[in-house]
Amino acid sequence: MAEPISASRSVSITIDVEHDCPPFLSTYRGIEQGMPRLLQLFAEEQVPATFFSTGDVARRYPDTIRKVVEAGHELGSHGDTHKRFGQMEQAEAQNELARSAETLRKFGSVTSFRAPNLDFPDRFLPLLRDNGYTLDSSKGRHKLGSYFIKPDRREGIRRIPASISPSPLRTPAPIRNLICSLLDHPAVLFFHPWEFVDMSREPLRFDNRLRTGLPAVECLRQTIRYFKGRKVRFLRISEVEI
Ligand SMILES: [Zn+2]
Repeated sequence: MAEPISASRSVSITIDVEHDCPPFLSTYRGIEQGMPRLLQLFAEEQVPATFFSTGDVARRYPDTIRKVVEAGHELGSHGDTHKRFGQMEQAEAQNELARSAETLRKFGSVTSFRAPNLDFPDRFLPLLRDNGYTLDSSKGRHKLGSYFIKPDRREGIRRIPASISPSPLRTPAPIRNLICSLLDHPAVLFFHPWEFVDMSREPLRFDNRLRTGLPAVECLRQTIRYFKGRKVRFLRISEVEI
């Protein structure tokens, strides 16, 4: 008999869909080359994911966003221009959220949000609600002083933090599997399309270049299989119950 799937153990794969490694590059290789690799990987492994896209990418690459929705993945917002919300006044934040929502909702329902650089001041939470969002994943437990952050609700918004930064999940299998085994659930992994393109010759920080391109695709495939082997459920982030 098959082992029952535990409702409390889930992993959400989330992709922050943006131009390449902001603010250091202004190219879109991740969208052009990385996104097809990700969509193929998720189709082959038959797992759903959540794609938080900037409005900017959706306006430049509407066919890519259409493919995300058609494949049954969740489409969320990653702001409009990838500017940091911590540097904005209220009116600008409202404008970013509204413009992103207006662009992305042409493709389907959008109710989940993640701020660029995981930087979203609490004072803007009512703006999220007013713009029709119900879930925020703008905190990261890997950030300094944030380890004990748990999922919660505030201002009518479900808040589900990211579990870990992307680069540790591109390490060799023994380290990667150890990291995965230590994650609290619901686990939220996040990646960027540009990690799945070879960035080794770009002028980036070492951890942003490390094992990018096809090795990253293989690491993510193995991570998916690691969780499958442990009967962990794969959920779009809006499906996570807290
Ligand atoms: Zn981002």
